[in-house]
Formats: sequence, structure tokens, C-alpha cells
Amino acid sequence: MIKACIGLGANLGEALASLQQAAHELAATPGITGLRLSRFYRSAPVDATGPDYVNAVAEIDTLLSADALLDILQKIENQHGRLRPYRNAPRTLDLDLLLYGDLTIDTPRLTVPHPRMHERAFVLRPLQELRPTLHLRQSSLQTLLQACSDQALELVPGQHQP
Ligand code: AMP
Repeated sequence: MIKACIGLGANLGEALASLQQAAHELAATPGITGLRLSRFYRSAPVDATGPDYVNAVAEIDTLLSADALLDILQKIENQHGRLRPYRNAPRTLDLDLLLYGDLTIDTPRLTVPHPRMHERAFVLRPLQELRPTLHLRQSSLQTLLQACSDQALELVPGQHQP
């Protein structure tokens, strides 16, 4: 069984509802068990324009290969009407494979750990809820978060402490 982490983001339509629904769809997928979901955060777009994003991270246990997992993430994105008119365009749902066990993957289709996760507060902060002792590139999540403290991030109101 592999523990994998998935980044969820949306900034169009009912972003929070899209993320909640995507998490349910992931949890209901054969070959995926034990989904744990972080709280939801609101963030300003990084390298992009448009409305604020809502972000979260999910951890799952899976027997699926990383490629099969990416197939599932892309299928769920497509079911949510994801269009890709241009790079970093606003999106109804974005699902990224952040971590797949402690494997490093570098194929034309898949780079894991996700190549930009270590510099994005909207990934690091929710990931820290689920994996407080994780290190990336030999740095703690806290250290990495301090390096991107200029990125505004706030909890979506009305959520309990994890
Ligand atoms: P995006 O449009 O930002 O969701 O990027 C999707 C593209 O990134 C797809 O072509 C994937 O094959 C590729 N990709 C590479 N590494 C990853 C990853 N770790 N998670 C999700 N997509 C990835």
C-alpha cells in the first residue's frame, strides 16, 4: 500500500463544493482507501489571474500505480468541466499528484514530487496538517512555508481545528 498526497484547487464556479465533491469521488474510487482531507484554504492566484482559489490536500492509501492515479485525477477534473484554454487559466478543478510514497518519478507525463509544491503556501500549509514531520528537499514544511510567507493564505471560515 502506498500513501499518496493530492493537491486540490479550484477558482471558478462553486470552488469549495467542487473540492468537497472531488474528495468524495476520490474516496469512492476502487483502489483508494483511507482518504484524509486537510481544511480548506483561500489563496490569491500564483502565476495566474482570476478569482481567489480554494485549496486543500488529501492523503490516500492506494494500490494503484502513479500513472493509474493520474488517469483518475484527470477523469475527475474532466467530469468537473475542466477546460484548458491556455496555461494557468482559471479552472473549475485542478488535481495534482504531489507525492507518491517516497518515490521520485520523472516521465514525460508525470513529475513527482510535484515540481512546484515546495514553493507554494497553498500546498504546504494544508499538507502540514496531514504530514507535520514531512521534509521536502531536506527542509521542513515550516521552513519552506517561511520562504513563501508573502503568499496570502487564509482558512475558509467556519472550519474546526484538525
Ligand atoms: P495542469 O494543466 O496544470 O493540471 O497540468 C496537467 C499536466 O501536467 C498533464 O499533462 C500531466 O501529465 C502533467 N503532470 C506532470 N506531473 C504531474 C503531477 N505530479 N500531477 C499532475 N499532473 C502532472
